[in-house]
Amino acid sequence: MTHINKPISSLTSPDVLIIGAGAAGLFAAIHTARINPNLNILILDSAKQVGTKILVSGGSRCNVTHHKVSPKDYAGASKNQINKILKSYTIKQTINFFEQIGISLKQEPTGKMFPTTDSARDVLNALLSECSRLGITILTNHKVSSIQPLHSRPPSSPQFEVRTENTHQFTPRTIILATGGRSLPKSGSDGSGYTLAQALGHTITNTTPALVPLTFPKGHYLTSLSGLSFDTTLTLSASTGKTIHQHSASLLLTHFGLSGPAAMDISRHFIAATQNDPHAKLTASLISDQSNHSFESLEQQLIAAAKQSPTSHLINHITKNYLAHIPGSSKLLTAIFSHHLNIDPTTPLAQLSRDHRRSLIHTLLALPLNVTGNRGWNYAEVTAGGIPLTEINLKSMSSRHTPNLHLIGEILNVDGRIGGFNFQFAWSTAYIAAQAISASID
Ligand SMILES: Cc1cc2nc3c(=O)[nH]c(=O)nc-3n(C[C@H](O)[C@H](O)[C@H](O)COP(=O)(O)OP(=O)(O)OC[C@H]3O[C@@H](n4cnc5c(N)ncnc54)[C@H](O)[C@@H]3O)c2cc1C
Repeated sequence: MTHINKPISSLTSPDVLIIGAGAAGLFAAIHTARINPNLNILILDSAKQVGTKILVSGGSRCNVTHHKVSPKDYAGASKNQINKILKSYTIKQTINFFEQIGISLKQEPTGKMFPTTDSARDVLNALLSECSRLGITILTNHKVSSIQPLHSRPPSSPQFEVRTENTHQFTPRTIILATGGRSLPKSGSDGSGYTLAQALGHTITNTTPALVPLTFPKGHYLTSLSGLSFDTTLTLSASTGKTIHQHSASLLLTHFGLSGPAAMDISRHFIAATQNDPHAKLTASLISDQSNHSFESLEQQLIAAAKQSPTSHLINHITKNYLAHIPGSSKLLTAIFSHHLNIDPTTPLAQLSRDHRRSLIHTLLALPLNVTGNRGWNYAEVTAGGIPLTEINLKSMSSRHTPNLHLIGEILNVDGRIGGFNFQFAWSTAYIAAQAISASID
């Protein structure tokens, strides 16, 4: 808790009450205070300690943003809506802001940007120090349970009555709802913000875990290869065979199923697809330069190889010529041969039947991954779904249903892929709300 020597009325009747001291809430508080230092700003958070998600983010290094951000990096809302938000607070502004509060960012080869110290703790401390410098009060252990609009009040007087579970009452003029989604509920983001928003006239689209590891049925043969990781293209197809989504990145096999950027990034699409089409399928290409290898070209190559080296063992030929980019590929291939293809890996090339050759090629191009579930909210990095952007005025992040209410960050129906995109969405929406509020109240 940040204690500031302020009159008690500024705490109970703040100009701006921010609910949620996560990335979005802290950023909005700082910018509101910087633009209009006369405003009393109070942040309430249900958690004992704020900023848990910042601390655990990016493997405790906090992937603050990405060097290039575009609407294509997000799902949920329309590209046009997301573009309006991203344009209002750019990457350059993000980098400059963090530099000002003592956090220099460095760019990694993937485009991800981290603090030069590789410390998420430094990022959180810098944000909290800036809040403290600006006189922003943060009350922890204050879970908001209700927000009641006070109708027909003059603009200079309180517009809401807010109650917390510990029976405190606040009467702010403006509210920013920055309560996040449902991912990592132990951090305090337990979805209770959605109930608050619904009571104020908002709808919530279906919410599902996103950026979440995917699971196989117990005992699936690939779980025995836990730790094996390789670059692949994952393809999500409808039961009709139509491609729904493709994503190329590194895939990690684990004791429960699939993790790594490829699985995490495609998870929200897989979960959405299987809700409507339970037979939607996920496959992984095992061949790296897939675009140079069609089914036909691979078949020709295998027929030619059988003539040239008839006694070569199938597994040696495939690992050497096609899977050199996969460390541990012979283990992977042995497992696939025995559990999926039912082919003896030591079959001499010349003795490979036509049917076996064809099923092998199909598998190399698209190994079926029998994903049956996901690891749920405790392992999800973000939430897919939330409050639709159609209910928000994107110039101010204000509610179209309740005057003087603003909604920012992960509570909204937008989720980004891995790479700093979710924090950038939090920074951008927070900045828009801060600017609008600072301009509208005095
Ligand atoms: C393990 C992990 C790693 C991640 N790594 C990255 C990364 O490197 N880069 C990236 O861009 N994104 C990352 N993310 C995603 C990113 O952390 C979130 O998208 C971002 O923190 C959302 O910010 P927010 O402020 O909207 O919500 P949150 O950070 O969820 O904050 C919401 C706050 O509201 C409080 N709250 C909720 N309900 C109430 C209530 N009723 N009353 C009072 N307070 C309430 C919560 O306690 C919480 O403090 C990661 C997420 C996880 C879980």
